[in-house]
Amino acid sequence: MTQRRPGVALNVVMLGPPGAGKGTQAERFARTHGIPKISTGDILRDAVRSGTELGRAAKATMHAGRLVGDDVIIGIVGERLELPDTRPGFVLDGFPRTVPQAAALDSLMTGRGPLVIVEMVVPEEVLLRRLGARRICGSCGVNAPIEWITACGNCGGTLVHRTDDGEGIVGERLKVYHRETEPIVEFYSGRPTFRRIDGNQPPDAVTAAMDRAICEASAPAKEVRL
Ligand code: AMP
Repeated sequence: MTQRRPGVALNVVMLGPPGAGKGTQAERFARTHGIPKISTGDILRDAVRSGTELGRAAKATMHAGRLVGDDVIIGIVGERLELPDTRPGFVLDGFPRTVPQAAALDSLMTGRGPLVIVEMVVPEEVLLRRLGARRICGSCGVNAPIEWITACGNCGGTLVHRTDDGEGIVGERLKVYHRETEPIVEFYSGRPTFRRIDGNQPPDAVTAAMDRAICEASAPAKEVRL
């Protein structure tokens, strides 16, 4: 693990299409560095499972593979980032997904240190293969690694396909990604804290590359001695 700079928050955005491995890698990075992983997809799926007002409002949109409204999502993330556990940093998985969401995040970042943006690049045929094989726990919602054959290693729940990983819906989600989310890459790519990572490597190699890239990008600019 790369040493983080003391006193510098690790504020991370994971960008990439569905199936790029954002969730898995965000989870690993967050655990290693003791910061929260904030997944808007997980928050919404929890809300759907619990039948809250948010869940009832978002369910049909999610199942169709479309995006929930910017105002709702920005509100959710704004509230979450107010909690004190995000002060040493956070990893955002699935947010921002539109340029207005990215602009709103910039406003939320005032006074919080650098924002590192990691884009995970994976060929489309690999994404389709991964999404077809992906399972989550039907009870606690965690992403299942391949070692879990039938039951969740966290809570013993049954492993299921995500409703929106079905064949017809995956196509729509990828289309929505290209149309709504890819423009964010351009929004961020000129920043000194933007990093692109090859997500088509063994998971441990991706973890190591991400760790190096984020810790290096979060470091304050070196002092120049004259
Ligand atoms: P994910 O688990 O990130 O693939 O998200 C699952 C679904 O939740 C998406 O297909 C959207 O319907 C919804 N969702 C998650 N994050 C966002 C976001 N930032 N903006 C709009 N909709 C979102």
